[in-house]
Amino acid sequence: MHDAAAPPAWVSLAYLIAGICFILALRGLSSPESSRRGNRFGMAGMGIAVVTTLVTHEVASLVEILIAIAIGGAIGFVVARRIAMTAMPQLVAAFHSLVGLAAVLVAAAAFLNPSAFGITGADGLILPVSRVEMGLGIAIGAITFSGSVIAFLKLNGNMSGKPILLPVRHVINLGTLAAIIGLIAYFTTDQSPWIFWTVTALSFLIGFLLIIPIGGADMPVVVSMLNSYSGWAAAAMGFTLGNSAMIITGALVGSSGAILSYIMCRAMNRSFLSVIAGGFGGDAAAASGGPTIDRPYKRGSAEDAAFLMSQAEQVIIVPGYGMAVAQAQHVLREMGDLLKKEGVRVKYAIHPVAGRMPGHMNVLLAEANVPYDEVFELEDINSEFAQTDVAFVIGANDVTNPAAKTDRSSPIYGMPVLDVEKAKTVLFVKRSMGGAGYAGVENELFFRDNTMMLLADAKKMVEDIVKALG
Ligand code: NDP
Repeated sequence: MHDAAAPPAWVSLAYLIAGICFILALRGLSSPESSRRGNRFGMAGMGIAVVTTLVTHEVASLVEILIAIAIGGAIGFVVARRIAMTAMPQLVAAFHSLVGLAAVLVAAAAFLNPSAFGITGADGLILPVSRVEMGLGIAIGAITFSGSVIAFLKLNGNMSGKPILLPVRHVINLGTLAAIIGLIAYFTTDQSPWIFWTVTALSFLIGFLLIIPIGGADMPVVVSMLNSYSGWAAAAMGFTLGNSAMIITGALVGSSGAILSYIMCRAMNRSFLSVIAGGFGGDAAAASGGPTIDRPYKRGSAEDAAFLMSQAEQVIIVPGYGMAVAQAQHVLREMGDLLKKEGVRVKYAIHPVAGRMPGHMNVLLAEANVPYDEVFELEDINSEFAQTDVAFVIGANDVTNPAAKTDRSSPIYGMPVLDVEKAKTVLFVKRSMGGAGYAGVENELFFRDNTMMLLADAKKMVEDIVKALG
């Protein structure tokens, strides 16, 4: 807080209430049942914070701000309504980039006109503590921005998902990071513009350099890490603007993103540092050269699948990215309902990185009203495949690939996978034998004796199975 006068008590109270709403929002979002309530708390908290800030700050022009809110809000509304569920991960990356850019713009505005922000000392210079906040804000914001733009391009398919490895990248990255830290320290003694703008340029560069070598199965960690960075960038903005609600919100997003990154790392069996250092298994992915399709495999029809599943005692459904692409979740639930009517026990197994964003499958199954007590996480269900008649894998690939357990050269090596091959029969729904998963590696399971390939669009295939069951 840099304002000469402390804010009135009611303002602090309002920000505190907004902070509590955000904590309750996070609490609500931790389970699909309470997520709507969580969202409402989040919206209420944001409403309180925005109104309090507008009422208590001398804004240049309330009309201009309201017009800007209306334009931004309208764009957000249209984008959110139009976005296909499959494009959600890119959208999230794009939103993170905007938070990073906002932090850069706030820090730049504060640097160019410090007295307007109340961060100057008696000598007219920017207070040293504010220079540190500003330096950190611009660095984290710029890294978040350029990193998120690269993540967007990779997730959107404009840039290869494979790791792009520069020679001596570790030396370049460490050198750039050290230069940024050194320059921020120097900035506290000398507020020359060249230092500020060099930190900005180097930070944009390092965000780019840190993300381009990360690819394949490590992208989930990148998405959650950028989520965390965007929170810290917002917190840094909060310090520059002297706004405690923003500091609280930023810290909440930053720390929950950090916890999510940790969970994703654990799910992938990766250390955080190995992901950040980037390029994990990149050479192996490049060397594998795509899947071979000339090996013998068994192909089945919707009728075969319907017969096998209706005879089963237990069927475990394993959804993946392909289910999201096909939007097959609703008809999948219908299939589950029909099987249950026939006395089959139906469960859903969710891998933590299935799909293209954390919680992707949970959201889709919840949207289709799949009962929560039928949905299980990897560690809770993996031991059950051995006693299961049919594993119905729909649009999932990497998360079932046993190469993760056996092939040290595989880019997904070490990641825990769903042991679908232990089921008596594995039904694999995908469109072609050629299409690989996100990590670009072949899946040995397609050619196993107990596997039957159901080659079609996931929604079409499940619709046909539903017809055959009906
Ligand atoms: P994969 O990307 O491994 O496989 C998807 C499969 O779906 C492919 O085999 C594809 O084959 C098939 N498919 C695609 N479209 C359709 C369709 N319309 N109908 C039927 N099948 C279809 O998905 P998984 O969910 O198994 O694995 C997720 C991968 O994504 C992991 O590597 C993970 O690391 C990565 N990732 C995850 C993120 C996260 O946060 N969850 C974020 C970023 C990356 P075909 O083309 O032949 O149909």
